[in-house]
Amino acid sequence: MKNRIALQISLIYFFTGSLWILFSDQFILSRAGSGNSITVLQTYKGWFFIGITAILLFLLIRKEIITKSEIEQNLIKAKLKAEVSDRLKSAFLSNMSHEVRTPLNSIIGFSELLTDADFDEDQKKKFTQQIIRNGNNLLSIISDILDISKLESGEIKIRKIKINAQKFISNMMEQFLLQTDRNKHKLIVTFPKNSENVFVFADVDRLMQVFNNLVANAIKFTPNGSIEIGYQPKGQMVEFYVKDTGIGISDEYRNKIFEHFMQVEADSTRKYGGNGLGLAISKNLIEQMGGEIWVESTFGEGSTFYFTLPEFKGKKIQYLG
Ligand code: ADP
Repeated sequence: MKNRIALQISLIYFFTGSLWILFSDQFILSRAGSGNSITVLQTYKGWFFIGITAILLFLLIRKEIITKSEIEQNLIKAKLKAEVSDRLKSAFLSNMSHEVRTPLNSIIGFSELLTDADFDEDQKKKFTQQIIRNGNNLLSIISDILDISKLESGEIKIRKIKINAQKFISNMMEQFLLQTDRNKHKLIVTFPKNSENVFVFADVDRLMQVFNNLVANAIKFTPNGSIEIGYQPKGQMVEFYVKDTGIGISDEYRNKIFEHFMQVEADSTRKYGGNGLGLAISKNLIEQMGGEIWVESTFGEGSTFYFTLPEFKGKKIQYLG
């Protein structure tokens, strides 16, 4: 293709040049009064020819250089991107094997203790509970890891439908109430006035997953206090929030907690449970549904997680809850 274009340009140049030589001579002869003026006109003709050819050459070479440097820059960018993703992949893999090995070691350790005759039934019951707890932890780590890798490779399909915000939250409340300890937590729901007909355009299952993550965290990081859930239409979007009066997050960690495996305290897993993937998954899901997620928090006082989703105003299949 490139050769054909080059050949076509050269042929056009050749024929135009031939026509120029043929007709310019006749034109000079018709204008020239004497031999001397023919020489002068021929010199101008020569300059004109060199000038045009030089301009053409300049344009061609410049185009070639620009294209080459663009290709070079794109290659450098692609190389840097590949290096960064390679480093991220290695970090992700080493984190992942650590996260999986921890509960697996506990399961093996406690299973070995179960076979030891030195322990009585009560102690063995505790070991069994530990095995179940670590087994569940392992299961949630593996499904979170699968989710995050599918999300990042674009394999997760988001099926957006029209969802009634109020009905959706009301339905989830029963589940949230089961997770809270009534003696320690107060669960509050705040619906704005005249908001019965506020709809969002999102994937029901994925929205449930995000709410579950945020509310489970709010409960987990609020040893004693209240958790408030609500929403507010804002422009073209609906802003949801999950507010707690828990331990809060310091400035240093506020934005980092949305990264993979990021937990504020190094021993957070032991103290509060979890694997540091919930918020990374939630961020990815919310962004894929066309929204944003962020947190406002004061260390020691509590945190409010906000996320937005596009408001739906047309007609589509409706989630009735
Ligand atoms: P995890 O499974 O550890 O909860 P997440 O990705 O959901 O993983 O959260 C990452 C970290 O962000 C948590 O380990 C915790 O340090 C911090 N965090 C999340 N939610 C809250 C909250 N409501 N209050 C205080 N810290 C929080």
